[in-house]
Amino acid sequence: MEVQFLGGADEIGRSAVLVDDSLLLDYGMASESPPQYPVGDVDPDAVVVSHGHLDHAGAVPALMSSGDLPPVHWTPPTRELATTLAEDTLKLHGSTPRCPFTDTDVRRLTQASETHGYEDSFEAAGYEITLYNAGHIPGSAHVLVDDGDTRLLYTGDFHTGDQRLVAPSTARPDADAVICESTYSDVTHEARDRVETRFADSVQQTVWEGGTVVVPAFAIGRTQEAMLVCNAHDIDCYVDGMGQRVTKQLKRHPEFLRDADALRGATSSARFVTGRDGQRKRIAEQNTVIITTSGMLNGGPAMTYVPAIRHHPTNKVALTGYQVEGTPGRSLLDTGSAELDGRVMPVSAQVELHEFSAHADRQGLLGFLESYRDIPVLAVHGDWTAAFAEELREDGFEASAPTLGETVEL
Ligand SMILES: [Zn+2]
Repeated sequence: MEVQFLGGADEIGRSAVLVDDSLLLDYGMASESPPQYPVGDVDPDAVVVSHGHLDHAGAVPALMSSGDLPPVHWTPPTRELATTLAEDTLKLHGSTPRCPFTDTDVRRLTQASETHGYEDSFEAAGYEITLYNAGHIPGSAHVLVDDGDTRLLYTGDFHTGDQRLVAPSTARPDADAVICESTYSDVTHEARDRVETRFADSVQQTVWEGGTVVVPAFAIGRTQEAMLVCNAHDIDCYVDGMGQRVTKQLKRHPEFLRDADALRGATSSARFVTGRDGQRKRIAEQNTVIITTSGMLNGGPAMTYVPAIRHHPTNKVALTGYQVEGTPGRSLLDTGSAELDGRVMPVSAQVELHEFSAHADRQGLLGFLESYRDIPVLAVHGDWTAAFAEELREDGFEASAPTLGETVEL
């Protein structure tokens, strides 16, 4: 078996792995400007998508422009999320040459789509494929590829720890080689219950003091997690942005949720914002909590809320995840001011970072890899994959860190 890394190898974003020039695992895009896509021209016989995040599924419609549509295999939530992302990309970039697909391609994706449940093996491009719960977001999967001789496990993004929205990854299928994400290979996360308690206490404190809290959150996964946390702690909240639509979609797939009743409960106690008639400005004046996109403050309704609450130190911006270098969220944390909607603004409101994570941390990765001690480990999807692979080698693993465009024989 020969695997080529077309993106997301020694970087985070635009994940794509091509097996034997035939089976494509993920086809993502990185949302920096200009957007980044996997390298090379691919014409796969079939595609398997690990989960519905932009950096794993965002460029899949671009594979729909040739005559023969390759079947696209994924779980039902991944199909739905990927379609939503594609429509959003068309809205943002559709009229520019940077967008590698059209609305026709997005429609054809529906014809090419084949959905599968976890641990329900199927055939794709002549391989036997099995998806296992990866505990990252609803529908996220580890992908096991078996050619009858070699079994390759592609982890996709995964989490072995607790989240309210999804159950953790527990399956450790037998394999002969593993391609392992390593986003947080050098990070130890604080216990989830402690992160959650501190977040809830802090948000409640601000509300009691008469302030407004803006909770920036990614639409897919984090918005729902924040809603579940708020509901569990009896914190009333508004929900705004693309996360509203995603929440409705995820509710349609209860078997991919850890506790479908909990999400139903959180949805009925949250107030969804339509954004009409200055509604957002009025909400921002209330003594309340607003969960809204985008998670790193580079767009979405947060562009209305944060400027509206920024003048008062009683108010708070409670960021809910890692803020990438160069994003307004990161700048706000580091300097107390940020470029929001094209204008640099100082923010007097309190700014906090609460690290809710949907990825395994260092311990989680090492614990996972303990099951794969005797087989080649390829560390990908991280900023420090080479260092991680070296550490693994020192620990007795047969590990390497493929680079962009590299082909590895297994
Ligand atoms: Zn992801």
